[in-house]
Amino acid sequence: MTIPFPIAQVNARPVGLAELAASAVARAPAPDRHDSFPVEAMAALRGAGLLAAPLPEALGGAGLCTPAGTERLRDVLRGIGRGNLAVGRIYEGHVNALALVLRYGSDPVRARLAADARAGHLFGVWNTEPAEPGGLAIGPEADPVLTGAKSYASGAGYVTRPLVTARLPDGRRQMLVVPLDPESRADLSGWRAHGMRASATGTVDFTGLRVNPLDRVGAPDDYYRQPFFAAGAWRFLAVQCGGIEAVLEAHRGHLAATGRGADPHQRARLGQAATAAETARLFVERAGHMATAEPVSGDRAVAYVALARGAVERAGLDAIELAQRSVGLSGFLEAHPLERLARDLATYLRQPAPDGALAGAATYVAESEAPVHALWHDSEPA
Ligand SMILES: Cc1cc2nc3c(=O)[nH]c(=O)nc-3n(C[C@H](O)[C@H](O)[C@H](O)COP(=O)(O)OP(=O)(O)OC[C@H]3O[C@@H](n4cnc5c(N)ncnc54)[C@H](O)[C@@H]3O)c2cc1C
Repeated sequence: MTIPFPIAQVNARPVGLAELAASAVARAPAPDRHDSFPVEAMAALRGAGLLAAPLPEALGGAGLCTPAGTERLRDVLRGIGRGNLAVGRIYEGHVNALALVLRYGSDPVRARLAADARAGHLFGVWNTEPAEPGGLAIGPEADPVLTGAKSYASGAGYVTRPLVTARLPDGRRQMLVVPLDPESRADLSGWRAHGMRASATGTVDFTGLRVNPLDRVGAPDDYYRQPFFAAGAWRFLAVQCGGIEAVLEAHRGHLAATGRGADPHQRARLGQAATAAETARLFVERAGHMATAEPVSGDRAVAYVALARGAVERAGLDAIELAQRSVGLSGFLEAHPLERLARDLATYLRQPAPDGALAGAATYVAESEAPVHALWHDSEPA
């Protein structure tokens, strides 16, 4: 068995994590090939303590998943996204899995999986399922064997501690962290994607694996408990925000390099693109605070994060279009940085059920008794 990238015991450093993360990714550019994975960038993040960093300090981390860690987590995700969206996707999955373990796992499960994170194991959340050969199911208590697969599973073959949802005989879904050997059970043949090629997003078949009691995380259907399920989307928005900033950077860099920036049409597009990037940043900042505040204001946080999803998607699509129009055809050539940045961002903007998220937010707005000016801000005067 080969370990696909080196595993090292590291100490998470509580300060400067965003800078460490961004520079680690910048120093280790990820590949852009089908069937690839950002081995060097992930090893650099591991070396900088980022795999343990989501854990609370008592478990050897830097507390990124605590409410007090929200701003640092946002800046880490955004900084990694700015460097490379495939790396950002993989790291966001790792953070999401640990957040679920910390929220719902029993003490022994948390301790065991925290030790795995400190030892350098990569986590991910694999919830999406293929129509064929069928989703993941777990046998009865007396014979808890898995059948079925997960699809669109990022880091397939590299994630050695995937958190999956599996259907119980009664139809509810149980979270499990299933230990996997590197390079086992992963099929990347279907991931011939427009962008995000290096995210190793594939299908993983778990059929035949036996579940141990300590693999179970939380109670059935905990995964879908609100507001955490929907509001957790703020984290992928932070990664996308970094991707938008990278597109704007390439846009601005091209105008400077070609001496075309003073043209009024180019200036107008650059201004619109800067507005889009700043809109995304402001929404992500507020969404992160709403989603992680304690006590969290449930329905309101879910609605706000849903609005943020739409705003960031719109900002990303605008940033891509404006950059491509300003740069022109050379932005579609592989040699130009915009080419890959735009493909990765366009692909990563595709997230589950965007219409449903917007409709849910609109329903909240329609049914709320708060005046419009106080919908999202308690402190606003009536
Ligand atoms: C790079 C990348 C990595 C990923 N990695 C993971 C991973 O590690 N783990 C994981 O679990 N998933 C992963 N995913 C999958 C992701 O979570 C979503 O499942 C996926 O992106 C959904 O995309 P979609 O556009 O097909 O969404 P859909 O939800 O199918 O939306 C497509 C369109 O259909 C609409 N729509 C949705 N439902 C309905 C309906 N019932 N009726 C009518 N219209 C509907 C939507 O509003 C939208 O307009 C990844 C995705 C990407 C892009």
